[in-house]
Amino acid sequence: MLKVLKFGGSSLADADQFRKVAEIVKSEPERRYVVASAPGKRNSDDIKVTDLLYDCFKASFEKKSVDESFAKIEVRYNEIIKDLGLDFSLDSEFEKIKLAILHHAGEDYVASRGEYLNAMVLAKYLGYEFVDAESGIFFDNSGKLDTEKTNQKLSEILSKYEYAVIPGFYGSMPNGTIKTFSRGGSDITGSIVARAMGADIYENWTDVSGMYMADPRCIDNPRVIEVITYRELRELAYMGATVLHEDAVFPVRESGIPINIRNTNKPLDPGTMIVPVVGDDDKPGVITGIAGKKGFSTISIEKDMMNSEFGFGRRVLEVIEKHGVSFEHLPSGIDTMTVVLNTDALNGKRDDITRDIFKQCNPDTFTIEDGISLIAVVGRGMVKTKGVAVRVLSAISNADINIRMIDQGSSEINIIIAVDECDYELALKAIYDEFSK
Ligand code: ASP
Repeated sequence: MLKVLKFGGSSLADADQFRKVAEIVKSEPERRYVVASAPGKRNSDDIKVTDLLYDCFKASFEKKSVDESFAKIEVRYNEIIKDLGLDFSLDSEFEKIKLAILHHAGEDYVASRGEYLNAMVLAKYLGYEFVDAESGIFFDNSGKLDTEKTNQKLSEILSKYEYAVIPGFYGSMPNGTIKTFSRGGSDITGSIVARAMGADIYENWTDVSGMYMADPRCIDNPRVIEVITYRELRELAYMGATVLHEDAVFPVRESGIPINIRNTNKPLDPGTMIVPVVGDDDKPGVITGIAGKKGFSTISIEKDMMNSEFGFGRRVLEVIEKHGVSFEHLPSGIDTMTVVLNTDALNGKRDDITRDIFKQCNPDTFTIEDGISLIAVVGRGMVKTKGVAVRVLSAISNADINIRMIDQGSSEINIIIAVDECDYELALKAIYDEFSK
């Protein structure tokens, strides 16, 4: 059994958190490879080390002093080192990094130093080998992860050590310079390490006890999802439910490795298990999760006999495509067609799209409406279960909310409902209440 663990910034924000991490790691000998983020916020007013590093880069770029931000970074690490009682100093590293910043090192190099230094401290504290991501994670010249080279090199290096700590968030370009993933990218590093080492499980340790069934900003104490498939996760993530960097899913999904989301502050909570496929003993609830987003618009087009006009739908979509806008949903009736799209993507292009649709399609009526929200009700338990849609729709209508659109994906694991933005929270709550009874 081999486990790869990743600890997020809040799990490594100060010495107390480091102690919790060490206890978790040391409690099982299978927990062998540990990916570290940079120190995150200790409280809501705090600043993440990564953000301080971006501040340093910006200051140096603008030829301003980096001293203040850099001193804060030094204090953060020195406090952790001192509180943990480590006989260890990062002074020479600080000196090197500061000099590089003053000599206008690249933004990604500067940003990556938070993980680099934190992984060094954690390796020292755990008594594990420090393995720099620079020597095992590679991008190609277009900036895409070089999967094959990374897999091969990383497993070659890590196999030399029984236990190691690897900094998250970055790797190196073919010319040796450092490149970071997008923000939150240590999740991706964890996933890459898990794949390279053929881990049995990828434990992603954070500050929540898993993925919630619905957004806790809208629902009080929502239930934690015990088991979710990668496919369901993708549907929910697309609608804004995030526990994990989106790109972290692919490496482990491909190799069939489950991810376990765990809480560093409540290590006994089982968290959420994200699995490629469920076993025969799977007993899902009807619904796994609900997620949604505001900020959509609809373009509604009506034309008599649209149904029998060849190429009508194609022409509408061609106009939208020509203006560089992608659509989300496409509900249609006999003589009506609605295109649901992102309001932000539409802005600045409304007049041109309107003009072109009139020119290409000659509709009887044409309207654009903003202020639409979409809610996705997702669950593998919905497949072949009768009456789910009825329950969703009744819950919404019993809450006196008007439904603007309904769309059930052919996969049958999701139902998408559109409601006015002002009804969004109420609708979400109505559906959650119905299925969490
Ligand atoms: N430290 C980086 C960030 O703040 C990467 C990470 O934490 O995953 O985005």
